[in-house]
Amino acid sequence: MKTCNFIKPDGSQCNAYAVKDDEFCFSHSEKHKDKHLEAVMNGGKSLKRSYADQEPIILRNNEDIVYLIEQVINDVRANNTSNKTASVIAMYINLAIKAISLALIDKAQKRNSKMMNTGNLDLKQHIEKLEGELRIKTNNSNQ
Ligand SMILES: [Zn+2]
Repeated sequence: MKTCNFIKPDGSQCNAYAVKDDEFCFSHSEKHKDKHLEAVMNGGKSLKRSYADQEPIILRNNEDIVYLIEQVINDVRANNTSNKTASVIAMYINLAIKAISLALIDKAQKRNSKMMNTGNLDLKQHIEKLEGELRIKTNNSNQ
């Protein structure tokens, strides 16, 4: 069986099987457009992308999140995913935004304590230490 010739917004080709009388799958065939719309209206879940065929995504920083949001927005606009799937992903995006900022704070704190332990003070801490010393000297000279 032939696969669909449709090129998705991300540049990859649709891997669904083409319908018998066309170069495209049921979702992308112009010949079946009306039937497809009808099926979508009836909640035809299988017609839309489930995200199960995608490469696993890694969310480690805010830029990864922006990229995922872009993908979901494009899929929703192109009618390539169900509103249900998009809503669930949106919920996880919200969680990921919070988790990533917490993880980044943890990472920074770990780095700071590591620097302190090895004797390399973080610049901010170094300045605070110098300011403290300066204050002591100023107080002493005032006495
Ligand atoms: Zn297709």
